[in-house]
Amino acid sequence: MAAVAYRHPGRAHRRLIMPHGPENNKPNEDKQREERAGVTEIASGAEQLKCLIRQSKSTVFFGGAGVSTESGIPDFRSPAGLYAAKRIYGHTPEELLSHSVFVREPELFFRYYKKNLIAEEAKPNAAHIALASLERQGLLSTVITQNIDGLHRAAGSKNVLELHGSNWRQYCVQCGASYSLHYILDETHCKEGVVPVCEKCGGIVRPDVVLYGERLQDAVIHAAAKAIACTQLLIVGGTSLRVYPAAGLLGCFEGRHLVLINQSETPADARAQLIIRDAIGKVLANAV
Ligand SMILES: [Zn+2]
Repeated sequence: MAAVAYRHPGRAHRRLIMPHGPENNKPNEDKQREERAGVTEIASGAEQLKCLIRQSKSTVFFGGAGVSTESGIPDFRSPAGLYAAKRIYGHTPEELLSHSVFVREPELFFRYYKKNLIAEEAKPNAAHIALASLERQGLLSTVITQNIDGLHRAAGSKNVLELHGSNWRQYCVQCGASYSLHYILDETHCKEGVVPVCEKCGGIVRPDVVLYGERLQDAVIHAAAKAIACTQLLIVGGTSLRVYPAAGLLGCFEGRHLVLINQSETPADARAQLIIRDAIGKVLANAV
């Protein structure tokens, strides 16, 4: 049984990073009262969400690893992922996916990365498909994701901000040449069958993803912060909101409605107007 909680919109939020939202995004008490009255009569969380999406002038979705688990992509930061990494590789996922391990021990990095972060066969799930549909209907402006699997684009979403980059883009660290994911998976392009090498200059070819110890791209993080600062409705799903940059980005939100779709509690629960503890694919599919 899905758990649904409805909360009244909170008071003004403090920004932690990034620009102010436009003045006209400031809450209007009368309008909010009217909207609340209409929204609370509706029974299920997905129905409430559907109603909010249709009432809102602008909507942004911000998602984490939980959006992809229904596509069979495990969260490498989960307790099971952590345990497996320590047992098989002798390190935590954060260490294995760090800039320093990539530089010092590229073989170890690529062994872990190829086995645990690439899911070539994974298909978009109901959540990705619903979000792409909302964008096509003009009801969703932006998808911001912490995932690197490219499944939002595969589902047809166009305006996607990939905070941590994408597996589907690879580049040579020496000459900058671009490569496909297929290139690095082809062992004939790899040193010892593992570390991919540029066919032009012999440099290492790496994923265009942000490793631990590396900075997020300024342009992407600024665009994400701006989208969140300017939207009326923010739907957050499949993320615990406990790690950077998620927590900071949420601090930019000054809109009317924050909706959380997550199986467990998050630090933002007290600020949310609607919390849905249910499978994200099912909820979003019912909200389209
Ligand atoms: Zn090169």
